[in-house]
Amino acid sequence: MALFFFLKNGDTLSSLFLMTRRMGTDFETKMNDYLQGEKTRLEKELASFAHRNLKASETDYDTDFPNIGDKDDENASEVAQFSNNLSLEDELEKALRDVESALKRIEDGAYGTCKYCSQPINEKRLVARPTSSSCIQCKKTLTQEV
Ligand SMILES: [Zn+2]
Repeated sequence: MALFFFLKNGDTLSSLFLMTRRMGTDFETKMNDYLQGEKTRLEKELASFAHRNLKASETDYDTDFPNIGDKDDENASEVAQFSNNLSLEDELEKALRDVESALKRIEDGAYGTCKYCSQPINEKRLVARPTSSSCIQCKKTLTQEV
């Protein structure tokens, strides 16, 4: 997704790296634009089958029960679709929360800094996974522990 975004905007990855070496904030602006786009896309996708739970303190959606029809096979389809949508909702919600916390980190000036060791996160990692909040080394350590 990230790669596609940058290419679509007429940048090759290498020119992006050259540019960010000169101007750090431009990288953040690009990531911010990308993340805003992701947020809109995820919210739109969630809104197509779920509604936002406004009482929840953090981003939370409730999947709507589909209404296909009243026949037995239609009821079965509704249950199957509902169950599919529930797992999709879970997945999209997690992605949306990651995107929202990355946007928050840009706002706070903490974007691109590892939350565990406070070292800068490799830009290649950020381009590949714009919501990263930890460096590769810390991520590896954590994954080994789990
Ligand atoms: Zn780290």
